[in-house]
Amino acid sequence: MTHGSTPVLEPALFLDRDGTLIADAHYLADARRVRLLAGAADAVAMANAARVPVVVVTNQSGIARGLITTAQYEAVRDRTTALLRKGRAEVLATYHCPHWGHPTEPCDCRKPGLGMYRQAAAAHHLDLAHSAYIGDRWRDVQPALATGGIGVLVPGIETPATDVEAARSALSSRLFMAEHIVEAVTIALSMIGAERPLLPTVGAE
Ligand SMILES: [Mg+2]
Ligand SMILES: [Zn+2]
Repeated sequence: MTHGSTPVLEPALFLDRDGTLIADAHYLADARRVRLLAGAADAVAMANAARVPVVVVTNQSGIARGLITTAQYEAVRDRTTALLRKGRAEVLATYHCPHWGHPTEPCDCRKPGLGMYRQAAAAHHLDLAHSAYIGDRWRDVQPALATGGIGVLVPGIETPATDVEAARSALSSRLFMAEHIVEAVTIALSMIGAERPLLPTVGAE
């Protein structure tokens, strides 16, 4: 959408995948084993209803480690998208970092790096400073601090205590913790809605 020649940047919801939308199965290689977590489809559907685009961002170092292939990753991604769709929930796009995050092989896309978010912002005209960053790890939420957006940590069974502690000590009017994904998205949408200029409905691409 454009006003004249200036594209209007939209806020988005950036969601982690493993441990946030689907059960964290550690280097999930078999698409048949994808299981949506409770509330995942409902949470994405809420964002859809509010016309806030949902982008999935996921670190997949298993690819660099040789534990899963790119084809296996893509099959799991597609299954996740399909299961969400069954729940009437639509994801705009999914980005992944295939790198190891090893100090000798740094990349700018592994979370908490901003590479995936910047890629998504450029492709879909998203406003990172007014977007929300949600996941079960501190690194999913850190981009909110870097961009000026809204962060919500949803601790799960795999969340390290240090991640919860990091979020707890950073709690603010822009950084939150939620007990489940629906609560996290509710908070994020209310924050986005409060700041968002009233825009005309954006059509599908
Ligand atoms: Mg996760
Ligand atoms: Zn990367």
